[in-house]
Amino acid sequence: MKTASSLPVLTCQAFLNHYQADSPLHLCSDFDGTLVPFQADPKACQLSPRQADTLTALAALPGVHITIVSGRTLLDLQNRLGITGLGYVGNHGLEIATESLNFVHPGAVAMTTKLAHWQAILQDKLHHFSGVWIENKTLSLSIHYRNLPEHRRQEFLSVVEECSSAITQERQLLISAAKLVVEIRPNLAWTKGSAIQAINDSIDADRSKARRVYFGDDISDEDAFAQWPDDLTVLVGEANRLTHANYRLSDYLETHRLLDALLKRVHLFRH
Ligand SMILES: [Mg+2]
Repeated sequence: MKTASSLPVLTCQAFLNHYQADSPLHLCSDFDGTLVPFQADPKACQLSPRQADTLTALAALPGVHITIVSGRTLLDLQNRLGITGLGYVGNHGLEIATESLNFVHPGAVAMTTKLAHWQAILQDKLHHFSGVWIENKTLSLSIHYRNLPEHRRQEFLSVVEECSSAITQERQLLISAAKLVVEIRPNLAWTKGSAIQAINDSIDADRSKARRVYFGDDISDEDAFAQWPDDLTVLVGEANRLTHANYRLSDYLETHRLLDALLKRVHLFRH
């Protein structure tokens, strides 16, 4: 792994050079923090109409496959973006819907009762932390604490920590910290990396031709970066962490800029 700040910034030219008109392009991106800014209310995050148009136009091009990968549920992601022609991966890889692949991880489906059980226990233990809310995403739980006052965060994390050994005791669930959210997920050898590889196999059967790109900012995006060590993997924002990505960008606006430039380039090739 490398320190993010030591990575080269992905220039427009390097990004465009990766696209070859005669090779399929599989372009994957995380959503929150990568395509839209991080917000106090996750329900308020919306892609700008202009970026929705860019993604729609890119996805309509022959040979271009776009996959949006998120910790949100598949349904949330599909409703929030509402763009046909895109592939969607929800729940950190556990749910997939693309033109060529529909998948829900059966091992995660088997854990839904256990997750609901822990949701009830945690709700009881955490109810006095105002600003904390537990989202049941059916195949995983998210404990959001971005609206918890900063001076109470340590206390909150200690309560979560006290529960964590019981949650992971039977090795059926995993607990992990991300950006102002604690995630509880089924303990499966299946990540965002596994999901994008499965999609890639469905569009590029001999695993040789497609040019692959992955933009992300989450800790769970590291699994996707590690999946494709020799491709264009881009960490967005996070300057101070260790990463498997090969390039970095300063923020989501830079992701937009590169996607706009790609669309312009492709149009140039075709007219
Ligand atoms: Mg993100």
